[in-house]
Amino acid sequence: MLGSLFDKFKQGLRRTQDLVLAPLGRILGLRRLDEAQLEELEDLLLQADLGVHGVDRLMARLRTELKASAEVDPRAVLKDELLKILRQRPAKPFQAGGTQVVLLVGVNGVGKTTTLGKLAAHLKARGEGVLVVAGDTFRAAAIDQLERWGERAGVPVLRNQMGGDPAAIAFDGATSAQAKGTPWVLIDTAGRLHTKDHLMKELDKIRRSLQKVIPDAPHRVLLVLDATTGQNGLQQAEAFTQAAGVTDLVLTKLDGSAKGGVVVPILERLRLPIAFVGVGEGVDDLIPFDPEAFVDGLLDA
Ligand code: GDP
Repeated sequence: MLGSLFDKFKQGLRRTQDLVLAPLGRILGLRRLDEAQLEELEDLLLQADLGVHGVDRLMARLRTELKASAEVDPRAVLKDELLKILRQRPAKPFQAGGTQVVLLVGVNGVGKTTTLGKLAAHLKARGEGVLVVAGDTFRAAAIDQLERWGERAGVPVLRNQMGGDPAAIAFDGATSAQAKGTPWVLIDTAGRLHTKDHLMKELDKIRRSLQKVIPDAPHRVLLVLDATTGQNGLQQAEAFTQAAGVTDLVLTKLDGSAKGGVVVPILERLRLPIAFVGVGEGVDDLIPFDPEAFVDGLLDA
């Protein structure tokens, strides 16, 4: 299992490695670095989207180590410092207990529906019951897509008519799951609301109607982010975290991105744990974020 997790991260980070970090192998193999090599290293890390702040921190540590000893292993130093950053906010495991309600939020196209489908399949494969709620009642395509994921995973999907009230269907989902003792309710939400205000109101309404059934729901709010947009998506993500009471992040399409390093500025700016990363479109391509596997995938050319 652990071996395959490392392989998945490696495979997920291949584009970042190929396009940006391949030249890094040469520099990381050196034991003394001159100023030009340090600058080249800094540029490569910035290109992989590790962010100015994170890169400054890594370079400062490396410079300190170079001053202190005649020879250093830059790869080991970078790994150590990166791990310190990435281990700051570990995600809580997804553990059943009563009926747990999980909301998925994020703008359209980031991979929200796909993530929900993969998560449903993952929980079902663990032997835990799941109810999927099609809470984005405006997109017929999203509802159909959820139903296909539901069929694949063997879990029921609750939907109402197009344009119906998302808070009402969330309420029905929570009521039904609680009555049947279903451990997981996964709720898709709309991603296309025009204003932050509108978004906040709709999510508040869903939250209040869930709490009429289960007072401490939702237990997790996952913000889904697309790795291919790199740091450009961060501002939008900040608006969501404020509006939606986000508890965890999911970073999708790591496999299609050359900006895998964006994990670092995401963690630093949003100050939330990354629960999962998406490394493909298949049902097994959602994996728990693992700092060690990530760092090895990034820096072991
Ligand atoms: P939504 O609008 O946020 O619900 O996005 P979808 O779930 O419909 O996903 C948009 C597209 O991204 C689809 O073509 C998905 O197959 C694709 N996608 C989602 N997650 C991943 C991932 O981790 N890797 C890759 N390569 N594609 C993904």
